[in-house]
Order: sequence, then structure tokens, then C-alpha cells
Amino acid sequence: MTKEEALKTYFGYDDFRGGQEEIIDALLAGRDALAIMPTGAGKSLCYQIPALLLPGITLVISPLVSLMRDQVTQLVQMGVPAAYLNSSLTFQQYLLALSRAKEGRYKIIYVAPERLETEGFQSFAEAADISLVAVDEAHCISQWGQDFRPSYRNIPAFVERLQSRPPLGAFTATATPEVREDIEHLLSLRDPLRVTTGFDRENLYFEVQQPADKRAALLELVKSRPGKCGIVYCSTRKNVEEVCDFLRERGVAATRYHAGLEPEERQKNQEDFLYDRAQVMVATNAFGMGIDKSDVRYVIHYNMPKDLESYYQEAGRAGRDGEPSSCILLYSGQDVRTGEFLITHSEPREELDERTAAALRERDLQRLRQMTGYCRTRRCLRQYILHYFGEFAPDYCGGCCNCLHNFEEVDISREAQLIVRCVAELGQHFGVNLVAETLCGADTEKVRKFHLDREPSYGLLGELTQKQVRERIRFLLDEGILQLSPGEFPVVRLGDRAEDVAQNAPTLTMPVVKEERAPSIRRAPAELDGRQAELFERLRALRASIARRQGVPAYVVFSDKTLRELAATQPQTLAEFRAVSGVGTVKAERYGQAFLAEMDRFHRA
Ligand code: ADP
Ligand code: MG
Ligand code: ZN
Repeated sequence: MTKEEALKTYFGYDDFRGGQEEIIDALLAGRDALAIMPTGAGKSLCYQIPALLLPGITLVISPLVSLMRDQVTQLVQMGVPAAYLNSSLTFQQYLLALSRAKEGRYKIIYVAPERLETEGFQSFAEAADISLVAVDEAHCISQWGQDFRPSYRNIPAFVERLQSRPPLGAFTATATPEVREDIEHLLSLRDPLRVTTGFDRENLYFEVQQPADKRAALLELVKSRPGKCGIVYCSTRKNVEEVCDFLRERGVAATRYHAGLEPEERQKNQEDFLYDRAQVMVATNAFGMGIDKSDVRYVIHYNMPKDLESYYQEAGRAGRDGEPSSCILLYSGQDVRTGEFLITHSEPREELDERTAAALRERDLQRLRQMTGYCRTRRCLRQYILHYFGEFAPDYCGGCCNCLHNFEEVDISREAQLIVRCVAELGQHFGVNLVAETLCGADTEKVRKFHLDREPSYGLLGELTQKQVRERIRFLLDEGILQLSPGEFPVVRLGDRAEDVAQNAPTLTMPVVKEERAPSIRRAPAELDGRQAELFERLRALRASIARRQGVPAYVVFSDKTLRELAATQPQTLAEFRAVSGVGTVKAERYGQAFLAEMDRFHRA
């Protein structure tokens, strides 16, 4: 079997994505490889295809129980004999799996790094024919990375003890030079093929909001995406609990995940999310590394993360299937102060000397500043991210809020002067709306009631809309030139620099939306027409019932993308069915009849 045949037969895909072929070729030729590819780029396939083609067993070292289970479930669905060995198995189950492994019943075995040192596993590994060792999430070996796992440091010694040294493949989404060097050095890679693919994820839309009320903003975002599943990341356990309760009270099927929950609850909540029983997962960053649910349509950050590596990795869990998905960050100045506090007050790890600890702290602060820059920039957000990862990117992507709203800096010196004078004139008695109505010369009941149309300021900003005037007032509030009184009906008052602005009209510029452009996310899916959309829903229902019967998550049966293509092309024979992307041989045999029959019923109805 060739690698192309394996891709079609097992995975049902027609083409390799960027970087996959080179890595597969290197590993098949016995050469080590280091692959740096963003989340969702398809790293697993880079070791799974060699695993299928090489004569012996492939060991995949992976840091998380949930990750292993998910991947093994998917492989078994495709007809690949695979298993995992980790702490979620009882001792009996573990012994059974190990004895089957000794009989050569599995092509791919996922193993937790802690297992490598156990005697039972070592005696198995030393006797077995191991063709390849893949180290997934390889950045866990580096203390510079975000997820340092000391047990990863035992991998090279383990590999040395094997009969003959198999090729090593290391995979990560973390691109910083220190981490990359650590991986090469600490894993003792031998002249590895280094592949770094582009970090751009074209199907992701990026947005930053700075809402006055994060909860309201969150609810709006979730409610405007009915039936879509999403992850909401919060920075603390307490926030997770509060936000999850809040969403539930508002009728959203939300669940939660953080390290303070009992393992049983964590497990159950994660499954509720994977199996689509809960639409929204509210979680700390403890949730997600290796969560391969491919149909996550949005990732919302309720708090700003500590660095762009974390942000891009977490946000990247949206849209793994390549369908358009959103990554939205709800920013507030408080997030920056919390981040700084955590960095400067965290206990350094014991094994570090004072100088290293100080260097790590300085690096963390620097990263936090760059993360803050992302939240505040008016430039293209995608470009900002890609530059951070050392890639070239154009000024305009058309798929982020800054590109779509296209801000420009506008001189508002004169307008600011008129606004401040108006506030003074009105005796600092009125709210934002009435000030704007007065300046715009509006003829409303309240304006008449308070005789505001007799004020000298009345109508002085008649060339602007009330919305534009309100935006300028808000800007002056943000700048501290104006202030809002506390209380239920806040009124606009003069702030620190108000007098200077009223007298001298110093230069003031404000970012203003230039023009609205239509969203143009690249690779938008083919629109389904009404009838096709109806069929799509029918196929989703069928998929759900199959998944339920088998006890696996729906996306493991077929991705949304595959169902969409089925609804659009409506194959009538098994051969046509097999041609659809995401349909491999085993899945075609298992599910082909059921899906063809459903489409047939749909046409007759
Ligand atoms: P990573 O580990 O790099 O984050 P995964 O290995 O989980 O990414 O792959 C993400 C998704 O992309 C999976 O659903 C996978 O099936 C899909 N995928 C991988 N390679 C291809 C390909 N060549 N064509 C189509 N889909 C692919
Ligand atoms: Mg992965
Ligand atoms: Zn952009």
C-alpha cells in the first residue's frame, strides 16, 4: 500500500496537506523528524500513516488521557487496530491490553510518558518490533513551553533501551526557538527533518471586543450561534463556575471543566461536550490539549490569556474540520493587571536558581505585553499573530474584525472641544444620550422639555450622527477628559483635562470605523440550498443516532464537512459515496448503506 492509498482507504482524504508528505516520507525512510504545525493542521496523520505502512508497531507518546482515548476511538472507527495504555485503565484492563500488544494485535499504541518507566511496559517494549516512536505535544519536554511534563525527559533513555533505535518523530504547535531547540536536544533527535508549516488558519475569523459588560457580550455571542458548539475559556476556576452558572440560568446548555473538579465530574462534563449533550464548554486552560472535537464552531476567551502561544493554541481548537469558525476575545484592562500579578507573585519552581527564575519572569512579562498588544491593535489581527510567530503576512486579511471594520485615526480636536463645552453649558446634569441629542440638534421630547434647543451648543455637531457623537463622548470618557457619575442614571461630568480641551482644543485623534466591508472569510463552504440544507439536517440526525448506538462522539462517525458534501453531491451508489472526502473504506462499509438509504427516502418523500 502506498501512502496515498492509506490516506484514501483509512482516512477518506484525497490530498495531503502542507508538510504532511515530507514528514511521512522521512519517517518511512527511517529518518527522525521535527514537525511544527499549528493546531488543527493535521499532525496526527503524519505518524499514523507511517504506522500503517511500517512492518512493526508504532508507539505514540502523548501527555493526556483524553487525547489518547479520542484518537484511539477515531482510529478504531477507521478500521485501524489501536489501543492506549494509561492510568484510566484498571490493572486488569492494562494487563489485557499489554498481552494483546505482545501478540502483535495492535498497529498503534498510545502510551503515557509515565508508563515508559514501568517494568511491565519495558519488558514488552524491549521484546517488541517497534518501527516508529512518535512524540506528540513534544513541547511538553521543555520547561520553556507552557505544559512542562518532567516525565517527557525519560523518553530518550527509553528509546536507547529498545532493540534497535527506531526513527523518532516529534510534533508540536509551539514555535518559539527555545522550545524547538529543547525538543531537538532533549529528545536527542538525529539529524531530523525539520518542517515548519505556515501558521495561518484560513477558516478562522478573529475578533477582539472590549465590552463594558462581558457577561452580556458573551450571552449575545452564544445566543447568536444557536445549535453550534463552542468553548468559553476563563482564567480562573471561580470565573468558570460563575460564567457557567450564568449561561445555564439564561437557558444555555453549558457545562464546565477545571482542575478543581472531581475527576468523575471532569470526565462526565467532557463527554457531555464531546457527545453534543452540552453545547458550550466553560473551562480553564486545563481543558483542551488534545481535544480533537472537530466541529467546535467558536472559541470565546472571557479573559485575556497570558501569551499569544496559549491564545493561538486555545483559539485554534475552533474549526479543526476546516469549516468557518470564530475566535473572539473579550478584553478588559483588568485582565492585564491580573496577568501581571500572577507573573510577579507566582512561586518559582523549586529546582530553578534565582537567575533562571528571574529570566523566566521577565520573559513572561514580555509575552504578556505582546498579548496585550494584540488586544489593543487596530491592525489586522491575523497579521499580528503571524508576525509574532515569525511569518510574513499581508496588512489585510479580510477575516478579522479590524480588517472588516477598517479603522482609521480621525482628528477630533474640534469636536472634542464642542462636546466638552456643551457638557459644561448643560451644568453637568445630563446623560450621554441627551448631550448627543443636543449637539446634533435633535427635536425630541426631552430636548424640548429641558429647553436644550435654546442652548448655544444646540446643533453645533449637526454634521455627525448621534451615534458618532456618542462614540466620541465614550472616547473622551475612556481618556478621562469626561467622567460618568456613579448611580443608576449616570450623567456626564468634566474630567481632569476638560478645561484644557475646552480652552485650547489640543490635538486629539480617535480610531474610527472607516467603512463596513462584507465579511470575506476565505474558503467559505459552498452554500447549501434549501432542499440540500434539509437533507443535511436529516443526515445529521442519522449520524447522531448511529453515534449514540455505538457510544462514540458524532464527529467521529463523519465530520460536518463530510455531511455537507454528501448533502451537496447526493451520491447514489457506494462507489460515489466513497468518493466523498472523509469517507474511508471501513466507514463506507459500515455506514454507506444507512446513509444511501436515508438519502433515497429523502428523495422519495
Ligand atoms: P493537530 O494534531 O495538528 O492539531 P489533527 O491531527 O487533530 O491536528 O487534525 C485535525 C483535523 O484535520 C482532523 O479532523 C483530521 O482528520 C483532519 N486532517 C488531517 N489531515 C488531513 C488531510 N490531508 N485532508 C483532510 N483533512 C485532514
Ligand atoms: Mg494533535
Ligand atoms: Zn485581518
